[in-house]
Amino acid sequence: MDEMEADKAGKPGNGSNAGESAKRPVKPEALRAVRGMNDILPEEGETWLALEAIVRDWLARYGYRHMRTPLLEHTSLFRRSIGEVTDIVEKEMYSFVDALNDEHLTLRPEATASTVRASIEHNLLYNGAQRVWYCGPMFRHEKPQRGRYRQFYQIGAEALGHPGPDVDAELLLMCARLWSELGLQGMSLHLNSLGNSAERAAHRHALVEFLRGHASALDTDSQRRLQTNPLRVLDSKNPAMQGLIEAAPRLLDYLGNESLAHFNAVRRVLDDAGIAYQINPRLVRGLDYYNLTVFEWVTDQLGAQGTVCGGGRYDGLFEQMGGKPTPAAGFAMGVERLLDLMRGASRLPAVRVADGYLVHMGERADRFAVRAGEQLRDAGLAIISHAGSGRFRDQMKKADASGARLAVIIGDDEADAGNVTVKDLRAERPQQTVPLTQAAALIEAWRMQPAQP
Ligand code: ATP
Ligand code: MG
Repeated sequence: MDEMEADKAGKPGNGSNAGESAKRPVKPEALRAVRGMNDILPEEGETWLALEAIVRDWLARYGYRHMRTPLLEHTSLFRRSIGEVTDIVEKEMYSFVDALNDEHLTLRPEATASTVRASIEHNLLYNGAQRVWYCGPMFRHEKPQRGRYRQFYQIGAEALGHPGPDVDAELLLMCARLWSELGLQGMSLHLNSLGNSAERAAHRHALVEFLRGHASALDTDSQRRLQTNPLRVLDSKNPAMQGLIEAAPRLLDYLGNESLAHFNAVRRVLDDAGIAYQINPRLVRGLDYYNLTVFEWVTDQLGAQGTVCGGGRYDGLFEQMGGKPTPAAGFAMGVERLLDLMRGASRLPAVRVADGYLVHMGERADRFAVRAGEQLRDAGLAIISHAGSGRFRDQMKKADASGARLAVIIGDDEADAGNVTVKDLRAERPQQTVPLTQAAALIEAWRMQPAQP
């Protein structure tokens, strides 16, 4: 503790004769996590791992390859990609100046910009298009509430270098498959097209005219956005604005033949695959880089934070980031919202529990137990060794509390004979004493033929 800290901690006395009081320990204040940032404790952590394993397999089946980018990026990356006049850039970014080298940095609020930056920087598309995915924490300074945190996780997939509409549709098929494999029902797909920039310009013109005609009905945010980025007005979450937004000119009505053909091709694949969707002309997404296809998967099971997954096409982003023109599309889903939904539907994935808890007592038993544990792990089993000593009864209690399926018991008698005693902790069946060499096979056999609990 340096002097200043010591002062703050209220260390009494100061000077030559601090005496008694200086010795009295000051109980340090317990520290807490930053608001809106969650600890994921072991029980939940295991559920996260189980979900991630499902997700890894799901993405691999579509040929998506994993990549990871830094949590910190130059602030300009997000300003340039997400757009200056968006909620994220205007009010949600954790930005700071790294005083050590005067760099403006930001904790990533999303990962599409980083993925594109990395693809350009490493010439990832040198040999052609790439399908990639990522998973990791994102940071947004929002008001924490259910389903809305300041650090949250996203799983995202990006198809880089494909002009679509086939990959747009594939991205949606992928999501539909994930919901079905996770056992989630009632996820509805909202679909829209943002057309190309000329079409958006024509719509923008009509939209500005319309909004100017209703200037008195606009909230402060929308009045400002009317000047800077009128499409963002349609993105307003303010309930008082919804009537006006409903009545505003629809971008869909400004699409030309090519954009319509793209949109219809996506719809045709969805129809063929039997995936229901609703066209939502108000869906504009909260980031500026999208064009053509945009979508959100929404549920009514999560209260106000009902959007689980969002995405679309962003053909202009590579160029905007200084790369070669490269068509691309992708999505990101919020892991906390997904897990919340799964919890509500009682569909949390099963987590791996330990196969055995090693109970051992006696000097020779303690030594033999180390060998037994290693040998069972060689066979692929998950074994928790009792640490420290303790009475048999207490060790058995710990074994039970650990969640392990069975106890592997070793006393000096077993150790002398090279045996272990295996006891099912979760079902009625007689315990068995077998040579250590046969223990893994017995445990495996019990796993395949579970006794009645
Ligand atoms: P919202 O409208 O709920 O603010 P968004 O449009 O800002 O969402 P995206 O940027 O599209 O969200 O991110 C994709 C997904 O990431 C969202 O659908 C959601 O599941 C999740 N997500 C976004 N922000 C948060 C947050 N603050 N906390 C938890 N999950 C989030
Ligand atoms: Mg948001």
